[in-house]
Amino acid sequence: MSKHTVVLIPGDGIGPEVMNAVRLILDASGAPVEYVERHAGVAALERGGDDVLPIDTVDAVREHHVALKGPCTTPVGGGFSSVNVALRKKLDLYAAVRPVRSLPGVKTRYENVDIVIIRENTEGLYSGIENRITDDVVISLKVATREASERIARFSFDYARSRKREKVTVLHKANIMKLSDGMMLDCARRVHDSEYPDIEYSEVIVDAGHMRLVQDPLQFDILMCENLYGDIVSDLCAGFVGGLGCTPGANIGDKDSVFEAVHGSAPDIAGQDLANPLALLMSATMMLNHIADTMQDDEARASADRIKAAYNHALEDGQRTRDLGGELGTRAFAKAVIERM
Ligand code: ATP
Repeated sequence: MSKHTVVLIPGDGIGPEVMNAVRLILDASGAPVEYVERHAGVAALERGGDDVLPIDTVDAVREHHVALKGPCTTPVGGGFSSVNVALRKKLDLYAAVRPVRSLPGVKTRYENVDIVIIRENTEGLYSGIENRITDDVVISLKVATREASERIARFSFDYARSRKREKVTVLHKANIMKLSDGMMLDCARRVHDSEYPDIEYSEVIVDAGHMRLVQDPLQFDILMCENLYGDIVSDLCAGFVGGLGCTPGANIGDKDSVFEAVHGSAPDIAGQDLANPLALLMSATMMLNHIADTMQDDEARASADRIKAAYNHALEDGQRTRDLGGELGTRAFAKAVIERM
């Protein structure tokens, strides 16, 4: 079978070093992919561009449909707005899928955590609509549409059914945001009752949901949420399984998909061979499985299986980066995975 072209976007901060490590592992696995490299974030400006999200980067994803992306720096407060958010909106990557699973050999407070967060990726408070009313008063608009709420609900139940998972829980604050979160609940209930009655369905107020997660994460299966709750609960759940170094993600649309770790550019450890490449590596295995599903390529699935077995084996052998209590640098961890392929 011919190779699939993947757009590689290394990103900023730790992005290029974790991307290099993942590329070596993908090559060693014999994954049926080839790459075109494009840039976004500060990296695009440093290459002489005048846009943090150059049009040729967006066009490349539109052309090839699949991208593997490192994090792009988003300054807090002023400066340019988030490249990550802009890319998701431009390509209408409406569902962020973030699996959170306990890893072998990584000791945490809980064992056997297995949660998938499905985050609405295009609206909510991430609409970016903010206005200054006076010097001392600003407003940030939370946008919710029936179309996006229904679409994320259908995606979540469909994901549950296709992955043979049992339960979808919606995190919401409809007691306060009666219209926006209320509409999401209404859509989730309708889609569930009419199309997916076989999947167990529940709702939990987001603050209480976080408390219940901390008490016992094993009670949850799929968590569906609007944009901001999804952002927050992703980092909380990352803490159950070893932190941001080991939580992958996929941004899925009807036409295009961008695979990227949950973590940001981590400027505090950038350029020092300290970053854990596992989150991006796991995102790459999600990408291979997506290629296998959408393009009926068994070789892609076999490569994903080989990579997963190799990193599990490495972790079981105590091969870990510093964020997981080990001693290895980014490159040494990649080498340990490749040696076990
Ligand atoms: P953003 O605003 O871009 O989402 P953030 O504020 O969530 O970023 P991150 O950059 O994701 O912050 O990471 C927070 C901290 O977690 C980092 O400063 C770093 O110390 C640690 N961290 C994140 N990713 C990794 C990784 N892959 N390996 C090791 N440590 C990491």
